[in-house]
Amino acid sequence: MTLTEKLLARAAGKPRVEAGENIWVKADVLMTHDVCGPGTIGVFKREFGADAKVWDRRRVVIIPDHYIFTADSKSNRNVDILRDFAREQDLPYFYDVIDDPQGHWVFDATKGNLKKQYGSNYAGVCHAALPAKGHTRPGEVLFGTDSHTCMAGAFNQFATGIGNTDAGFVMGTGKLLIKVPETMRFRLEGRLQPGVMAKDIILHVIGEIGFDGATYRAMQFDGPGISSLSMDDRMTIANMAIEAGGKNGIFPFDTRTAEYVETRTRLNGTTMNYEPVEADADQKFVYECVVELDQLEPTVACHPDPGQRKKAKELSHVKLDRAYVGSCTGGKTSDFVEFARVLEGRKVSIDTFGVPATPDIVRDLQTTRWGAKTVWQILEDAGVRLTENAGCAACLGGPVDTFGRMNQAGLKCISATNRNFPGRMGHKESQVFLASPATVAASAIAGRITDPREYLIN
Ligand code: SF4
Repeated sequence: MTLTEKLLARAAGKPRVEAGENIWVKADVLMTHDVCGPGTIGVFKREFGADAKVWDRRRVVIIPDHYIFTADSKSNRNVDILRDFAREQDLPYFYDVIDDPQGHWVFDATKGNLKKQYGSNYAGVCHAALPAKGHTRPGEVLFGTDSHTCMAGAFNQFATGIGNTDAGFVMGTGKLLIKVPETMRFRLEGRLQPGVMAKDIILHVIGEIGFDGATYRAMQFDGPGISSLSMDDRMTIANMAIEAGGKNGIFPFDTRTAEYVETRTRLNGTTMNYEPVEADADQKFVYECVVELDQLEPTVACHPDPGQRKKAKELSHVKLDRAYVGSCTGGKTSDFVEFARVLEGRKVSIDTFGVPATPDIVRDLQTTRWGAKTVWQILEDAGVRLTENAGCAACLGGPVDTFGRMNQAGLKCISATNRNFPGRMGHKESQVFLASPATVAASAIAGRITDPREYLIN
């Protein structure tokens, strides 16, 4: 069996499962957020009763993150619905925007959107917050009401996005009926060259198979090249499995996984026991390919979908209006560090926005010093508009007052986010080019799509 089959067999209590088989699996964690949480709660109450209790209060994790720093009253109200539910169900893992459990969330637009407006429990973007808060464990099954839940596959777990109806059912029963996906294998060999990042790996892979090339399939990344990839790198890759239509992305377990998980579970007091899975020697794949990491170059997915692959150096004719670094995919500390490495001592020439994925990442950037300056100061000095209000921000467009949202037709943006279908970051006639944080930085300096090695070599 493949890694995904092993995980699902265990969760179904069966010795063996086959691709295509329908099985009931037990959930280890159910995650929801402010966009889908209210709908999920509605389904749960309708189907299980107004006084029903969730199947296991320690396995439901609620993370408001999407439409948070906006004056839109309906968005603010969604956070209040989550708070009421968390209080009613006595949920220990609700990462509220405010500290008062009886309070109401209202974003104060008069304070502007750069300075932080959240309390001590706020965790930021759900997919970055889940591992950081110790909720991702090897060998487990994670369901989330968000398509990029697949990011947690970096931790050797089966993690996939589900709709509100399924999530309402999981909330009541802790189980879900799943069809076992076929597995596609991407065997990584070699090491990335300077200026090339994990984002380039996944953009290369999606370009190879197309934005629907892995529809309802598991994408298994393995091979000797894995050992050189950090957990942040693996998260970036697993996150974008859905951009090829994948059911999940999955990585093998190794010492890096163990170190990360053990640190984060200990720090947060979450469950520390876990049991990773290993693939069998006779695992079968529906597709196999080798990715030579040292052959990869800075890569861009052009408008209008993540499969429109080109090399950055082939796109120097594309003039840009703005640049954006942020999201679960491209807003991690390591992403901002690579972004800053290119920008240090230089200036952006177009509007450039930076949105860290979590408050912890804000703190990392504000405390990590390179010489006399912090990474945060280096980016501000380069002209980047950085917000402390960690969250999804303009990755998903959001209400019109969302930081970095593309509100005009015709704008072209290079972005470290993960999805570029029309209208994704705002106006339906704007265009998004997906790239690594290093490529975004080089392009922000030049005002056109630029290979970051032009700046890193000197
Ligand atoms: S940052 Fe973007 S991709 Fe990630 S959860 Fe938020 S909206 Fe979705």
